Amino acid sequence: MDDRGGKPFKKCINPSCNLTYEINNNTLVCKCGSFLDIIYQKNYSRELVEVFYQRRNHGGNIYNESGVWRFRELINFAHLDTEDFDQCSRILVSLDGSEGRQSKPYKMKKVSEYSLMNNDSLLLQPEGYNPSGSFKDNGMSTAVTHAKMINMQRIICASTGNTSASAAMYAANENIECDVFVPKGEIAPGKLAQAFQFGAQVIEIDGNFDDALTYSLNQAQHLGAYTVNSINPFRIEGQKTIVYRALEYLDWNPPDWIVYPGGALGNTSSCGKALMELYELGWIKKIPRLLVVNSEGANTFYELTNGLFGSKKLAWNNGRPDMSLIREYYIEKDKNGIRPHTKATAIQIGKPANLIKALRSIAFTNGIVAQVSDKEMSDAMALVGLNGFDCEMASGAVPAGIRKLRKEEIIKKDDIVVGILTGKQKDPQVSINYHLDQSNTFSKPPVAK
Ligand SMILES: *Cc1c(COP(=O)(O)O)cnc(C)c1O
Ligand SMILES: [Zn+2]
Repeated sequence: MDDRGGKPFKKCINPSCNLTYEINNNTLVCKCGSFLDIIYQKNYSRELVEVFYQRRNHGGNIYNESGVWRFRELINFAHLDTEDFDQCSRILVSLDGSEGRQSKPYKMKKVSEYSLMNNDSLLLQPEGYNPSGSFKDNGMSTAVTHAKMINMQRIICASTGNTSASAAMYAANENIECDVFVPKGEIAPGKLAQAFQFGAQVIEIDGNFDDALTYSLNQAQHLGAYTVNSINPFRIEGQKTIVYRALEYLDWNPPDWIVYPGGALGNTSSCGKALMELYELGWIKKIPRLLVVNSEGANTFYELTNGLFGSKKLAWNNGRPDMSLIREYYIEKDKNGIRPHTKATAIQIGKPANLIKALRSIAFTNGIVAQVSDKEMSDAMALVGLNGFDCEMASGAVPAGIRKLRKEEIIKKDDIVVGILTGKQKDPQVSINYHLDQSNTFSKPPVAK
C-alpha cells in the first residue's frame, strides 16, 4: 500500500476500493461514494498517557487546556511535530482551549438508581458542558482546523441544531463564513438562536434533516464550500477525544460498555475508530461493547441491525454490508410517507449519514442497537437534572437505554458503563412542560400562592 512517506492520509473504508488521498484537499468522500478514514502511521507508546495527564496542568497553553488538543498526537492529521505554542496556533483551531475541557465522567446517584445500576458502576459524561453546549465542539474544532489548513473561506452544514451552533461559533471565532441548513420549525429555539448570534447565514428548509443534508451537500459543491457534517472524517477525529477523556478517567482501563444516542451516527463511528486504533496500538486489551440508542420514532439503525426489515440483519460483513437492503428500506419508508418523528429533535434522523462506519463500530465492539420512547427519554432527562446536571431529551436516550438493557440482563448491575450525555437543554419549554404535567413520573409542578 501507498505509505505516503509516513504522513497521515485519507483512505476509503470500502475494502473493494481502498483508494487513498492526501490530507491537504477538500476531498471528504471517496470517488466511489464511500466514506473516508484518516489513517496515521505512527506507533505511539502508551507512555504518552502521562504526557496527556500532565498537560491538564496547562500553564496557560490553550492546546493543553483543550480536552481535544490535549490528545493531539492521536489526532495528528496536521502532521505537527512541535510543542511550540505559536506554531500550534497557526494551525490548530480552538475556542480558547474550552472544547472538551469540562467534560469527564461523573457519578449521578439518581440516574444510577433509575438505570438499575450500582452507583459506582455508572459514569455519565456531560458533553453539554462544551462552549456551544454540545459534544459537537469536539469534532468541529478539528474539522475547522482542516478547513483552515486548506484555506477554505466558507463552511457549510445541515443540522438538527447543535452542529449549526458549533459550526457558527468556530466560524465566527476564525472569521470565516458559515451557511447552515436547518429543517424549518424542527430545531430547538436555543440552537437556532446560537446560529443567528454567531452570525451564520441560516437557510430554512421546508423538510426534515435528511432533506436539509441533501441541499447542503449540493450547495457545498456549487459554492466550493467546506462541509462540516459528520460525513467529514476530520469531525470524527475530534470526537474520538470523548472516548479518550472517559478512558483517562478510568486510568485507561476500558469500561464494559460505552453508550450513545444514535442520530446521524457520527459518535458511533468515532467511538469505534478510537477503540480500533487504541487496540491496534496495544494501549487497550479489552474492547468495550457499544450500545447505541435510537428513538422509537427515528429508528433506522435499530430496525436494520436487528433484522426488523427484510429477511436478514444488516451488518458490517467485513466491509461488504448489504447495500441493497438499505436502499430498499429507504424506498419502502419513502413510499409509505414514513418520516422520522420524535420530540428528541437532535436525533430525528431517518437516513443516518454514517450508517456504514457505524456498522463497523458495532461489529468491532460486539455492539447492540436499542430503541426507547419519547417518554423514557424525557424521564431520564429529568433525572439527570435532579443530579444537578443539565441535558436535552436526546441525551436522555442514554440512561433510558441502559435501563432497558439492565431489565433484559444484557448489562449486568456491576458492569462498568460510560454513558455520553450529548448536549445541554436548549429548548427550555421542554423542561417546563415536563414539570407542569403532574402525570410525568419525576415532575415537580409549581405551586401558586
Ligand atoms: C448531534 C446530536 C446527537 C446525535 O449524534 P450523532 O453523532 O449524529 O449520532 C445526539 N444528541 C445531541 C444533543 C446532538 O446534538
Ligand atoms: Zn472508495
